[in-house]
Amino acid sequence: MKRAIFPGSFDPITLGHCDIINRGVALFDEVIVAIGENSAKKYMFSIEERKGFIETTFKNDPKIKVMTYSGLTTDLCKEIEADFILRGLRNPADFEFEKAIAHTNLKVGEIETIFLLSSIETSFISSSIVREIIHYKGSYENLVPAAVKTNFL
Ligand code: ADP
Repeated sequence: MKRAIFPGSFDPITLGHCDIINRGVALFDEVIVAIGENSAKKYMFSIEERKGFIETTFKNDPKIKVMTYSGLTTDLCKEIEADFILRGLRNPADFEFEKAIAHTNLKVGEIETIFLLSSIETSFISSSIVREIIHYKGSYENLVPAAVKTNFL
């Protein structure tokens, strides 16, 4: 089975992430959205909320699974027998950042990273800008899937 993991913080998931996941599904038998939990990082949404948003968004697609993890992404790949890491690229800054990680993951973890260029319609979206809009109570609904709700704010 050709299985890829799509790792990230997803704080929260955006239409940019959804674009990469939906296009990734055409390339792999299974795409596992892996939500990283880093104790040193402050998140706007709890891990349960972030997981819930993604599960609800893709509840009708059996090829898309969601899980949480901490530790090295390549260790997770080995554990769940995923041979590929899927990542999205929006701009040169993403590329520079991702390049070193992908080279390291190949050299140290023997895991290949597959990059998809973001779609024109969603390439400007980032979770950090969405968080900023939510923080100031602006309208963020066109940037995220409908499952992302902020009733708690
Ligand atoms: P991280 O904290 O690892 O950067 P993110 O949740 O911000 O996690 O992003 C996870 C992945 O989704 C990364 O590969 C990132 O480049 C990609 N991504 C984020 N926003 C977009 C977007 N608008 N279009 C395409 N890919 C995106």
